[in-house]
Amino acid sequence: MTRVAIIGGGISGLAAAFALEAQRHAGAKVEYVLYESTARLGGVLRTENIDGCVVEAGPDSFVTEKPWAADLARDLGAGNQLIGSNDADRKTYILTRGSLVEMPDGLMFMVPTKILSTGLSPLFSWKTKLRMTQELFHPPRAVDHDESVADFVARHYGGEMVDRLADPLLSGVYGGEAANLSVRAVLPRFAEMERTHGSLGRAMLAARKKMNSGPRKPPPPLFTSLRDGMQHLAEMTVARLTPSSLRTNAPVEAIQMEAGSWVVSAGMQSDQFDAVIVALPARAAAQVLRIASRELSAELASVDYSSSITIGLGYDSEVRRSLPPGFGFLVPRSEGKRLLAATFVHNKFPHRAPEDRALLRCFFAGANAENVWAFSDDDIVGIVRAELQQVLGAQVLNSCTEPLFARVYKWKSAMAQYGVGHLERLERIERLRRKLPALALAGNAYRGIGVPDCVRSGREAAKEVIQDAVKTAN
Ligand SMILES: Cc1cc2nc3c(=O)[nH]c(=O)nc-3n(C[C@H](O)[C@H](O)[C@H](O)COP(=O)(O)OP(=O)(O)OC[C@H]3O[C@@H](n4cnc5c(N)ncnc54)[C@H](O)[C@@H]3O)c2cc1C
Repeated sequence: MTRVAIIGGGISGLAAAFALEAQRHAGAKVEYVLYESTARLGGVLRTENIDGCVVEAGPDSFVTEKPWAADLARDLGAGNQLIGSNDADRKTYILTRGSLVEMPDGLMFMVPTKILSTGLSPLFSWKTKLRMTQELFHPPRAVDHDESVADFVARHYGGEMVDRLADPLLSGVYGGEAANLSVRAVLPRFAEMERTHGSLGRAMLAARKKMNSGPRKPPPPLFTSLRDGMQHLAEMTVARLTPSSLRTNAPVEAIQMEAGSWVVSAGMQSDQFDAVIVALPARAAAQVLRIASRELSAELASVDYSSSITIGLGYDSEVRRSLPPGFGFLVPRSEGKRLLAATFVHNKFPHRAPEDRALLRCFFAGANAENVWAFSDDDIVGIVRAELQQVLGAQVLNSCTEPLFARVYKWKSAMAQYGVGHLERLERIERLRRKLPALALAGNAYRGIGVPDCVRSGREAAKEVIQDAVKTAN
């Protein structure tokens, strides 16, 4: 019997456990124990039902393009729980000199593919529009070093594009700044486009032409989620695991090799395993691995994380009627607000709020979150309300417009920052990990921060430790 310890009960660890459970059902001689430091499984996947609204405390959805989270739902027999974003009403605004400006049609991240709509948009100055035209003549370039997303985007389109689009879009995903994120790790497709085509605009147009030459299918929704909220994905996974394999309130202090076995120490108890999957944020992973490998621990500890705060606000039908249509807005740092983004959830996922409710999800991250971390929930709600009033205008919200409910959720160091040189760091981590037998790493510190990538990392980790165990047995 191969015994596997899984450390961390977020979606990465749960996906690993589900993969091992499936192996067990298929006849593999494997058993697992999952350790979770808190009383609750699911990690940052947390949903509350408030006043008829589905309020997401952590992630609210995932990109449809990455299939692994939806695959997990389908493997759980819950494909009918998957819902798509309401893309017919998709519109995103960027706060520009105090006013909300709609993102022009045809922008693929920051690459314009529809010349007319971008050319007419008030989002960009004439200087940036000229840069967009010049960008079409950017020669192919093999860059031999990593660089920040900000530098990469500025080379192609100038600083205004970084400020108005690249930085706010990435802040919403990583909670970090484009100036600190690695282009190779965060936007590998764009780095590759530069290598092959030079111009990102031309590469995008070529890709579009190729796509349009095949049979025409309606595009899938951009975002997918679960009808009853993201926490439901974790709950359904837990329901399929062996209850006696789940140890909650069991923070692991350390793991180490002793006489060919992994010894996992949690509280006053230690247990022996053939393999371990560490499915923790990198800093927590560094802590539990400090005895097993000081070098690996040091590399893991060097992955930066950013903190974030989400604020769920419910309003009545009057506010709903007066809000602009669309999915919400992003706020460039240059606008001087604490708020980085707000989603109009009732438009993005209409199932999540009754028709007479407006549901807003607001987001602070990085320094903006740290600066208000110690504030009371009431004070944080006060700041959000004031900034929403400034952005949306008094005809939508004024100081007398009380929310029907307000919730503040704080996530300390939960979003990994893939800094410049991240891929080289991953290579070092991989080399050091391979020196230790039957150890796998999963989670958001490595090759994707989103829920689908975390699910994939958990599944791959499970597959890897099983293969290692088979090799050792032979
Ligand atoms: C506010 C927010 C919004 C997000 N929005 C989106 C989104 O819309 N779409 C998207 O795709 N992604 C989003 N993400 C990213 C994504 O949700 C996370 O990257 C992913 O869920 C991380 O899962 P995980 O299991 O790797 O880590 P976690 O969820 O952090 O789970 C790790 C678990 O390990 C436990 N643990 C820690 N130390 C120990 C220890 N020593 N022993 C035992 N257990 C321990 C923790 O208690 C925790 O339960 C968001 C993240 C945040 C924070």
